[in-house]
Amino acid sequence: MHYKKAYDKWRYIIIEYLSYIVFLILFLEIIVFVYFTYTGIMLSTPQVYFMKYTLFPTGTNIVLLTSGNYLLKKEKISDEIKNYIPILCLVGFCLTIALVHNYFLITASIFMVPLMLSSMYGSKKITTRIFFICTGALLFSAFFDGFDSSNRDNEMWNINEVIAFILLLSAYLLSNVMMNYAREKEEELRASIIAKYTLEEALKRDPMTGLYNHTEFYRYLEILIEKIGTDLKTASLAVIDIDKFKNVNDSYGHEKGNIILVELSKLMTEYCGERGHVCRYGGEEFVIVFPDFTKHEAWILMENIRKQFERKELIPGEHITISSGIAEYEPEITAQKLFEKADAAMYKAKEEGRNRSVIFQKVQAE
Ligand code: GH3
Ligand code: MG
Ligand code: MG
Repeated sequence: MHYKKAYDKWRYIIIEYLSYIVFLILFLEIIVFVYFTYTGIMLSTPQVYFMKYTLFPTGTNIVLLTSGNYLLKKEKISDEIKNYIPILCLVGFCLTIALVHNYFLITASIFMVPLMLSSMYGSKKITTRIFFICTGALLFSAFFDGFDSSNRDNEMWNINEVIAFILLLSAYLLSNVMMNYAREKEEELRASIIAKYTLEEALKRDPMTGLYNHTEFYRYLEILIEKIGTDLKTASLAVIDIDKFKNVNDSYGHEKGNIILVELSKLMTEYCGERGHVCRYGGEEFVIVFPDFTKHEAWILMENIRKQFERKELIPGEHITISSGIAEYEPEITAQKLFEKADAAMYKAKEEGRNRSVIFQKVQAE
C-alpha cells in the first residue's frame, strides 16, 4: 500500500521534530558540561571540553539536519529513498552521542530510537535495513569506544555494546510485532469499509438487473439538473416500458419475463455506455438519463435500442417490443416534472400503437 502524500508530509514533520531534538541535545550537553566542571570530573580544559563535547555534536547535528532537509526537497531523489532520510539523520544524531559520550554506558543503546521510528512506515524492508545500519553504527561506536584512552580503564570493554546489540535486536523484533499488528488492523478496517461500501452500493441497486433503482435515479437526475448551465448544456430523459408484458408473463411464465427484463437492461446499458445512465424505475419500466443530449439525439439512440431489442427474439417466434417517451430539460423544470413529461410521451407512444419512441414536444403539438 502506498501513502505517498502522507509520507511526504510526515518526513517533514520528523525533520521538524529532529530540529527540536538538536536543541534538546545541546541543552543536555550544556548540563553535562556544567556538571563536569563543578564536580571536577573534566579530563581536559573547559575550552577543549566545550569544543569536543558541545560544539562538535551540535554542529554535526545541524549539518545532518540541513542536509536532510535539502535532500528531501530534491525532486530527483525517489520517494523510497526519501523515506530513509529523516531516519538516517536520527541515526547520525545517535552516532554522535554514542561516539562523544561513550563514557556513559547508556548511550550505546540509543540506536533503538531510530529503529523504532522507522517502523512508522510499516515496511519490514525499511526497518530491516535500518536495523543493519544501526548495528553498523553500534559496531563503529564500539570500535571507537575500545580505542578511546579515556575508556581504557573500563573493564567492561564492549560487553556494553553486546548488551546494546541485544536491546537493538529486541527493539527490531518488537518493531516487527508492531508492524504486523498495525497491518492487521488496517486490513480489518479496509474490510469493514469495503463491506460498508458494498452494502451502500447494494441499497442503490435493483438486485435483479443490477441497475440503479428509483431512488438513485432521482438523486442522480437532481444532481445532473443542478449542473445544467455550468458543466452541462442540457440533458434528456427517456422512459421505457415493455409492450404487452403482462401477456408475456401469462404465456411464458414470470421467470421468462425476468430473463427478458435482464436482457433489456443489458442491451440498454451496453448500447448507451457512457452516453446514458440506465435505471430501473419499477416493474417493467426503465429510465435513461442522457447528460448533454438533446431530445433528438436521445430519440435517435432510443430508436436504435428499440430496433435492436425487437430483433432479439428472446422467445422464439416472438418479437417483444418497447415503447419510450423522451423529454428534454427546460429551464426551472424539476426532476419530477421532467419525468412526468417523458412518461406522458411514453403513454402517447402506447396510444399511437406501441413499439415506437415519442418526443414530448410532439405530444404537446398534437
Ligand atoms: P403495456 O405496457 O404495453 O400497456 O402492457 P403491459 O402488459 O406491459 O401492461 P402493464 O404495464 O400494466 O403490465 C406490466 C406487467 O409487468 C405486469 C407485471 O406482471 C409485469 N412485471 C412487473 N414487474 C415484473 C418483474 O419484475 N418480473 C416480471 N416477470 N414481470 C413483471
Ligand atoms: Mg408498465
Ligand atoms: Mg408495459
